Amino acid sequence: MQNNFKEVNESYTLAEAILEAQRCLHCKVPSCKKGCPISNDIPDWIAELAKGNFGNAVAIINNRSNLPAVCGRVCAHERQCEGNCVLGKKGAHINIGKLERFVADFDSEAGLVHDAIPEKSRGRVAVVGSGPAGLTIAGDLSRRGFAVEIFEMEPEPGGVLMFGIPEYRLPKEVVRREIRKIERLGVVFHLNTTIGEGHTVDDLFAEGFDAIFMGTGTGVPRHLDIPGIEHPGVRQAIRFLRRVSLFENGLLSREEVIIGQGDRVFVVGCGNTAIDAARTALRMGAREVTVVYHRTINEMAALRAEYDDAVAEGVRFMWKSSITEFFGEPGAPKLSSIIIDTDGTKQRFEAEHVVMAVGSTPAGRIVSTTEGIRTDAKGYVLTTDNPYGMTSRAGVFAGGDVTNRPATVVHAMRDAKEVAEGIARYVDAIKLIEHIRQSENVN
Ligand code: SF4
Repeated sequence: MQNNFKEVNESYTLAEAILEAQRCLHCKVPSCKKGCPISNDIPDWIAELAKGNFGNAVAIINNRSNLPAVCGRVCAHERQCEGNCVLGKKGAHINIGKLERFVADFDSEAGLVHDAIPEKSRGRVAVVGSGPAGLTIAGDLSRRGFAVEIFEMEPEPGGVLMFGIPEYRLPKEVVRREIRKIERLGVVFHLNTTIGEGHTVDDLFAEGFDAIFMGTGTGVPRHLDIPGIEHPGVRQAIRFLRRVSLFENGLLSREEVIIGQGDRVFVVGCGNTAIDAARTALRMGAREVTVVYHRTINEMAALRAEYDDAVAEGVRFMWKSSITEFFGEPGAPKLSSIIIDTDGTKQRFEAEHVVMAVGSTPAGRIVSTTEGIRTDAKGYVLTTDNPYGMTSRAGVFAGGDVTNRPATVVHAMRDAKEVAEGIARYVDAIKLIEHIRQSENVN
């Protein structure tokens, strides 16, 4: 286990994938497709796969998804497509996620489908942030004839896919391959470029972009008011996961990851980020890792499969429990102990680190440097339904976590597909108005 970031779930072999695909009934009214947030044409590509037509299967998947190798790995299949498959009612559902992953990986390795690069004549769109929402917008608009440029503050694109989801669940190389496919559509990436610090949204408009998409996610962890929480031994999950990712890429030293060999670690929260942080802490050499959650197992936001894997790896869980105080020498890098309240009973535990995974809110960089973008009280950007995804500032759109709508990677993608449609309609409309004005001036 220790230091083992190798992907946990095994892939199908070619023969296994075809056999599994051949079990599909190709239902006339496919309930699996209804369960998919992006309405992937599941029976159609599975039918092609069952016949061994891999290129056709890839092309059908690509119609709806820019990130199939990612979806095949991190989607909540048990609650979506697979949870709705008719075969699951009496026996084993089709393993749709594993099949999608097989097809996407097979395509990447064999280079089966080469999208034609469309002429970029419909307008220019700037995308700020390259997480699942930004990449989906970029892929969809690029395929539809828009010139798209992505601005990313990190040294590598991918956002939460690259810096938030650990290697053992989503290998970085898989994310890189998906990004290379989007690059091949003609999308331009500007890395280490933060919009809202020096370079603003108004600058982008002045540079000739017709629309700007904010897919900047939620980078500011929620703060809980607990005595001792400011101690350096208390870490935020998103920052811990980012540090591990940078360490894995050789960009940080082992010491900078903070959690060390033999540490006792508690993780607060029970969503997928909490489980990711717990399993990652084990891989970084923690001696004991315990998830502390104030509700019950039935109320956790984490996927059951992720929870089961965490238990199998040795992560412990304390339900209906909260940390009420942190103790540690002032200035020391590690805690000494914590107090946990379980259903009214308080107990002290020795602990070196606590990782907080209780949610996060958007950073205000763009909103604070751009006139006219309205947010709600928590800082989430408000958008309209017509055109879908536009903020209160004309031409500036938002989607993904920064709008507080999506909850998972695939929900961010579904939302982004609708925003892409909204951007296309908006840019087409302003181009038409420009064209009419120019013709009037000529006449
Ligand atoms: Fe195939 Fe299941 Fe979808 Fe029916 S519901 S088409 S059996 S995957």
